[in-house]
Amino acid sequence: MSTQNVTVIGLGQMGAALAGAFLDAGHPTTVWNRTPGKAAPLVARGAVRADSVAEAVAASDLVVICVLDYTAVRALLAPVAETLRGRALVNFTSGSPEQAREEAKWAAGHGITYLDGAVMTTPPGVGDSASMFLYSGAPEVLAAHRETLAVLGDPVDLGSDAGLASLYDTGLLGLMWSVFGGWLHATALVGADGVAAKDFTAVVDRWLRTVSWFMTGYADQIDAGEYPGDDATIDVQVVAIGHLLHAGADRGIDARLPELHLDLMRSAVAAGHGQDSYARLIEAFRKA
Ligand code: NAP
Repeated sequence: MSTQNVTVIGLGQMGAALAGAFLDAGHPTTVWNRTPGKAAPLVARGAVRADSVAEAVAASDLVVICVLDYTAVRALLAPVAETLRGRALVNFTSGSPEQAREEAKWAAGHGITYLDGAVMTTPPGVGDSASMFLYSGAPEVLAAHRETLAVLGDPVDLGSDAGLASLYDTGLLGLMWSVFGGWLHATALVGADGVAAKDFTAVVDRWLRTVSWFMTGYADQIDAGEYPGDDATIDVQVVAIGHLLHAGADRGIDARLPELHLDLMRSAVAAGHGQDSYARLIEAFRKA
């Protein structure tokens, strides 16, 4: 059990989960929330409720904030900037990379060591070492508090540019929605022939690992700017996606997702890249 004091500002779904994980790991935890009643379950578990943001900040060298947006962060912290001076501030509030960089600048101007964080899970995943917590910003915060922050989930250090955690976060959420879309489309397709989502998803789980292996290889191609179609060409996949469109049409399945992929592939073929690998399509996204 650790004795590092922690303050958590913001006790919505995520903030409450963060405070709960610190409490579970034995950290003396001070909490504050705009609506004070939300602190009650945490106080019952041993947290100390602060009556003001200033009191909350003064209680710990490590201050964690997780509220709705960066506007709320600044509104809460600007009046207590002097109390925050010399302390470590970790901001798990979601925002844009530009907002994170602006917040880091503001913090540096007040002598506050600032680390931006992105929580890559939902509240039930907080406290699980399999969950990723992305960090970017002042390296001294992770150096001093890695062990404490690790009780929330596995800390992934992205370096000193405070904007990177938010940049990865937005990109990764985009990836998640694309995967959800592909999975739901495919589940609707096989479901039309009576396959249960649960049965199909067991196979999907294995397939995603293979897809991930493909991506690892393609990442090298993207970094090299060369896309040899050694494993499978775009030409072959234009034919293969035709089978998906055909099967979908026969079953009345919405075709917008595969049509989008086909459109991107056709653009690459039209530009003379049909013999390249699928990774070539990164150029289409870059041009947009
Ligand atoms: P939530 O349950 O709606 O909680 C929002 C929190 O922000 C509450 O503590 C709320 O206080 C506070 N708040 C909002 N406006 C405020 C203001 N003007 N001044 C002071 N406090 C204010 O949302 P959440 O799910 O905890 O999300 C919080 C942050 O975590 C968001 O940036 C979200 O994107 C991020 N996040 C959430 C998840 C998730 O799965 N939930 C995952 C990753 C990241 P009151 O209680 O007084 O309303």
